[in-house]
Amino acid sequence: MMAGENSPSERFLIKLFTVVPALALAAAVPLAWGWGLGWTDVGLAVFFYSLTCLGVTIGFHRYFTHGAFKANRALRIALAATGSMAMQGPIIGWVADHRRHHAFADREGDPHSPWLFGTSVGALAKGFWHAHLGWMFRRELTNAARFAPDLLADPDIQRVNRLFPVLTAVTLVAPAVAGGLISWSWWGALTAFFWASLVRVAVLHHITWSVNSICHMIGDRPFEARDKSANFWPLAILSMGESWHNSHHADPTCARHGVRRGQIDISARLIRIFEIFGWATAVRWPRPERLARKLKTPGDVRTAA
Ligand SMILES: [Zn+2]
Ligand SMILES: [Zn+2]
Repeated sequence: MMAGENSPSERFLIKLFTVVPALALAAAVPLAWGWGLGWTDVGLAVFFYSLTCLGVTIGFHRYFTHGAFKANRALRIALAATGSMAMQGPIIGWVADHRRHHAFADREGDPHSPWLFGTSVGALAKGFWHAHLGWMFRRELTNAARFAPDLLADPDIQRVNRLFPVLTAVTLVAPAVAGGLISWSWWGALTAFFWASLVRVAVLHHITWSVNSICHMIGDRPFEARDKSANFWPLAILSMGESWHNSHHADPTCARHGVRRGQIDISARLIRIFEIFGWATAVRWPRPERLARKLKTPGDVRTAA
């Protein structure tokens, strides 16, 4: 099943594919600063990034896919709507795909494993592309009746699922409207649309896809798992805790993915706040004895929320 550690050339390719486009984007920032980019655009981009990223990480992923906590109806609908605004597809299909990913992780049937083509450099380059976004182009549709019957049976979720095109329009138009009103200019609306709609959606897409690609290829694997999932610390903040992916595959229903000391997990922090307000209940926080059993080498595990 396992093919050992990944090769240096494979690591080089992943870095090339991920770092060069990011550097290009970073280079565009100082070029545009002052005429096509300002603090309003930055603020709106950060706000909409955080809102939609957390909609996916807390909502689509930890809550709807894995049932890491129970939510009251308002929180449930809010999480479904903000996750839909990430433009990663309607909620029911997203959840069905991700449950299938866990059921078949890195084996035949996994919708987006980077390991399906072999372990040579060429096969892994193809695998990286497939896991990152290629899998969406030649689409195998996941059977929602099998993988997400709970969501299909919920009228609220059916409604949010149907409203996906509207929520897509909202997520693209709202930053432009806000930018236009704050700057009281059409130019302000345009720059906000560019940075806080288009660039923000693209960056979040790549961060989410990186969990599927990079976090199944490189990183630390402190926990026993049946697959190649790995903890990749550089993405911890931008992915709001989701890049602690080896820990997640070891204990999928746990509400915190950054379970070890010092592992920042912003999504888990916010779930804790929802719990304090009473909106989230029955939160599955890490259980040290459960984690200790799966740890390859004994070490520290955080216990408190
Ligand atoms: Zn995974
Ligand atoms: Zn998962």
